[in-house]
Amino acid sequence: MGLMAIDKRDLSAFIDGLIPQWEVVAPVPVEFKYAFRKVGSFQDVALDYTNTMLPPKKFLLPQRDELFSCNPEGGPSLTPRFDETPRVLFGVHSCDVHGIWLLDDILAEGCSDPHYLCRRSNTLIIGLDCKGPCHDNAFCKDMGTLKPAGGFDLFLTDLGERYAVQVGTGAGTALAERGGFYMADFEVREEFFAAWQKKQSGFPNRIGYDTAALPNILAESYDDIIWEALEMRCFDCGACTTVCPTCYCFDVLDENDIGTDRSIRYRRWDSCQLQDFAAVAGGANFRGKRSDRLRHRLLRKGKYFKEKFGRFACVGCGRCGRSCLLHIDVRDVFNQLKG
Ligand code: SF4
Ligand code: SF4
Repeated sequence: MGLMAIDKRDLSAFIDGLIPQWEVVAPVPVEFKYAFRKVGSFQDVALDYTNTMLPPKKFLLPQRDELFSCNPEGGPSLTPRFDETPRVLFGVHSCDVHGIWLLDDILAEGCSDPHYLCRRSNTLIIGLDCKGPCHDNAFCKDMGTLKPAGGFDLFLTDLGERYAVQVGTGAGTALAERGGFYMADFEVREEFFAAWQKKQSGFPNRIGYDTAALPNILAESYDDIIWEALEMRCFDCGACTTVCPTCYCFDVLDENDIGTDRSIRYRRWDSCQLQDFAAVAGGANFRGKRSDRLRHRLLRKGKYFKEKFGRFACVGCGRCGRSCLLHIDVRDVFNQLKG
């Protein structure tokens, strides 16, 4: 991984130069908030955005995703649908890069997800350092996601007159060459290091202990009364998982067009917090109680994936806490468990 630089005045031409070849998706202002949207020009991009309501994951794992269609004419034939749109996700903050990086591992292992992997292989990720905590409930520093460690092609850090650019992949190198980026000299490296020190000290810790202890704390809290207490507040809406950059569960459905007999199979986002998520034939439900579902979600975020992939499945973005009408906040739960 190398370090390069680009002058600020050249970034606009670089991004606008990508638009004829790639669908460029970036944060834009939407009704006092921000959202990742397809942009027509660099001018549309909100470089100083605070975290979007939905993470950029939605361009890799859309809320509704057609998997294949079936046509009965001439004998039933299945036509798989793969989205091969060349796409650039620009301006992705470090926490969301971590989220995508984790999905890359999860969805490539075992029975891999070809629809995700197809989109991912056609997507370039250009990250952008945030300058301060997006919101009071962001706890990215505690979750170790303040800086990217993988899952990006280029990652930009604002140094004033220019950006330092971490190059993460060969595709990133090709992009940097295309944009006329130059190798970072000693001065850029010093400024980059100073920017990192400043960023680190500007973010507070919001979990009252070293999160390395989190998997053990969660294991020891399996029968804690806290899960029953949370159950009294949660009402199963699933908002917390909908906004999470590392949640990926889906349901599969068929839709038939009676007029043409054509049918499609698609998937749509699902949530482990919903009553029926773990229901099976015969009427059994493995997590019929809300307390079981809440505990399951928190254990996945702070224990199971850490043990399997070495990384938490919570990047500390704080979106779930902000979206929950009952203010059930992962960070608060992690703190309470230790208490
Ligand atoms: S957003 Fe809050 S109320 Fe809704 S399912 Fe999640 S924890 Fe429960
Ligand atoms: S669990 Fe909450 S804070 Fe953690 S990554 Fe998901 S939305 Fe963000």
